[in-house]
Amino acid sequence: MNPHDHLWLHFSRLSNYRDAPPPMIVRGDGAYVWDADGKRYLDGLAGLFVVQVGHGRHELANAMAKQASELAYFPIWSYAHPSAIALAERLADLAPGDLNRVFFTAGGSEAVESAWKLARSYFRKTGKPLKHKVISRQVAYHGTTMGALSITGIPALKQDFEPLIPSTFRVPNTNFYRRPPDAGDTPEEFGRWAADRIEDAIEAEGPDTVAAVYLEPVQNSGGCFPPPPGYFERVREICDRHDVLLVSDEVICAFGRLGEYFGSTRFGYQPDIITCAKGLTSGYAPLGAMIVSDRLTEPFLTGTNSFMHGITYGGHPVGAAVAMANLDVFEREDLNGHVRRNRDVFRSYLERLYDLPIVGDVRGDGYFYGIELVKDKATKETFTAEESERLLRGFLSKALFEAGLYCRADDRGDPVVQLAPPLICGEEHFAEMEQILRDVLTEAWRLI
Ligand code: PLP
Repeated sequence: MNPHDHLWLHFSRLSNYRDAPPPMIVRGDGAYVWDADGKRYLDGLAGLFVVQVGHGRHELANAMAKQASELAYFPIWSYAHPSAIALAERLADLAPGDLNRVFFTAGGSEAVESAWKLARSYFRKTGKPLKHKVISRQVAYHGTTMGALSITGIPALKQDFEPLIPSTFRVPNTNFYRRPPDAGDTPEEFGRWAADRIEDAIEAEGPDTVAAVYLEPVQNSGGCFPPPPGYFERVREICDRHDVLLVSDEVICAFGRLGEYFGSTRFGYQPDIITCAKGLTSGYAPLGAMIVSDRLTEPFLTGTNSFMHGITYGGHPVGAAVAMANLDVFEREDLNGHVRRNRDVFRSYLERLYDLPIVGDVRGDGYFYGIELVKDKATKETFTAEESERLLRGFLSKALFEAGLYCRADDRGDPVVQLAPPLICGEEHFAEMEQILRDVLTEAWRLI
């Protein structure tokens, strides 16, 4: 046995590590992490879309130590503690419109599950008990617990666990690059087409049975699909018409990833629920939340009603305290402003890679980009399953990492390389990313 044989790595082929240990990251500072041999890597994925303020912030560590020594744990099940109250107030202040009530979880999947349970419970309490179904988009990732996995639109992640919770349905995502021939020529036409597919699904299922639509502001899985102009405006109209809740799953897109506290603010739409996690604490401790509108809270404010749902570590004092310190950094360093001022520079560095034959599409927003790799730029021909396996798993991830860039090579949709660096990054980091990507993608093309 190796020492690492006891650790079950998530989403990993354990056989890959039978003879060799996984890469061992031991330290982080700013935008960089170091392995056990002292080699430095640019963290091009902020851990896992998490470490917004960068690694190694003593201020955050100190806030956690202070909270742990004062009150390490107490539940928020009919009791409260100051950090959870302060953070809920602050999030309600930052969240758009009347999203004023915060239900804390320990992570993103739990926030997604909680929102589905709340939608069901809300409609049951307001005389529409049949409303329970959820619509989400193809290839979208919404988490791995059974409810969240049921909403997830990636069949390969689900097949070992079927049957999942029935009554979730998929609609097309906003991949403009690979839109169907009848889906419009302009981004505006495409946005209208894609939004209308949601209305089709609601009508096909019966509006009386549909509770919610789950959408990310920019869809992560598949490689960072931004919403076409007008898309969310139309989705909001459709949801209002059929009394369907719009759940904005911002587990990745909140807390500065798109240059705003919330991704919905970036695109100017009003959700009924926001689910968030990751960047809320910049990963210094686990914490998630769903932020809920006044309308959805209202039935739970009176009489004997309660939302029969809770999680031991939801609103953990240490997580809540570090989230406060994290948001202090956001304010003091104007991280959202920094992203807004630099996002075009980031994009322009990545777009330089268009001169490589393997780069088909560069898409995303803020500090959140995907680069789709193709076999033929003119026809957009993609790789076969075998080539994809050889290219992404066999070569790219490892080669990028060995060249000093930690990022993600993913084939849950078409093959993409994804970048979502800490929000403190600037031009020198973009240049470093571009150089490493250029060298490694050039080599990948040679190997095909
Ligand atoms: N929703 C979205 C959009 C996500 O990207 C993720 C995780 O990446 C989740 C939900 C699940 O979050 P967690 O892994 O914290 O459970």
